[in-house]
Amino acid sequence: MEDLTRRVIDYARLEGACKVGIATLETLSGGPPTADITYVLPEARSAVCFAFALDQALIPPFLMKEDRRSHERDNIRSNTLASGTSIDLARYLDQMGHPSYALSANNVYRKDTKRGALDMYPDISLRYLAVASGVAAFGLSGNVHTSEQGAGIILGALITSAELTPTAPMTEEENYCDGCRLCMTSCASSMMDPKEEEGVTLGGREYTYSKRRSYLRCEFVCGGFTGLHPSGKWSTWSPGRFEIPEDNKEFIAALRHGMKAYEGRPSVEGGFFNPLSKKKLNLTCGNCQLICVPDKEERKRRHKMITDSGCVVQGPDGTLEPVSSEEAVRRMASMPAETRALYE
Ligand code: SF4
Ligand code: SF4
Repeated sequence: MEDLTRRVIDYARLEGACKVGIATLETLSGGPPTADITYVLPEARSAVCFAFALDQALIPPFLMKEDRRSHERDNIRSNTLASGTSIDLARYLDQMGHPSYALSANNVYRKDTKRGALDMYPDISLRYLAVASGVAAFGLSGNVHTSEQGAGIILGALITSAELTPTAPMTEEENYCDGCRLCMTSCASSMMDPKEEEGVTLGGREYTYSKRRSYLRCEFVCGGFTGLHPSGKWSTWSPGRFEIPEDNKEFIAALRHGMKAYEGRPSVEGGFFNPLSKKKLNLTCGNCQLICVPDKEERKRRHKMITDSGCVVQGPDGTLEPVSSEEAVRRMASMPAETRALYE
């Protein structure tokens, strides 16, 4: 199995993965239900996890609201590459007599929860596989990052019945997260609790990160339905200006209203389809992930890019344009009431 372990690691490397690792039933033991790899494959013994790096050159123009489409394209292709590598490697192992299951890099949610896919509860958490296998480490945000690429990665993984040799988790010294909190201040939805932490145990090791207040917060903002920061001074790439409720209980109603309004807006170039929305979505946020790089000075620069680049408004042809917060208010006021209701 040592030889097979080396081969599967090489396989993912050859596909372009920047980090590859192995988690096993043992190194995932004690974890939450989404760390249970037998959920998708009852005979599972190991998981092969890997990361593809996003193109860092495309991130500052995205954060400065200069070029949205190039990063969106790179992000979608990186997800496709990660999912495709999972399928290829799962097939390879399967053909060698080890039944295997390819995980999708994104957009697969359990159907057996209270609200189904709306709960956004993944079949298997790629983050847990990444941490247990040493591919990445948790940051305070709850996102995971590598020591070199930061959180600008797309994870992929497959589950296999082969008993592979586990790789070690990253050490605390290798984890660059210094609690700078710039991930939190870059999030218009306040998804991360600034005070409370939560944690997981994986293979006997405990990990903590900020408590996620409600995934619906991220869904409301990252889905593109709204994007205005509560300060009113900056937004994500979303032209939506619906208020972000303070109370978690108000999110279902806010989300329903936002999604309905979103359907009436003109379409934006590019995008992708998601099972939670009838209409194509676009990448409008990801700030907490994209800001998090090993170099703290660069993190600060990226935070400034987000907060200094104003608010996005949408033209009748679907074009997204960043303008000052004052100009955004003027543009909204000049819209017919019916059009305005699509945004605020
Ligand atoms: S932005 Fe700062 S606090 Fe947040 S995860 Fe990255 S290093 Fe940690
Ligand atoms: S993707 Fe955007 S909305 Fe979602 S948690 Fe990160 S910063 Fe907040």
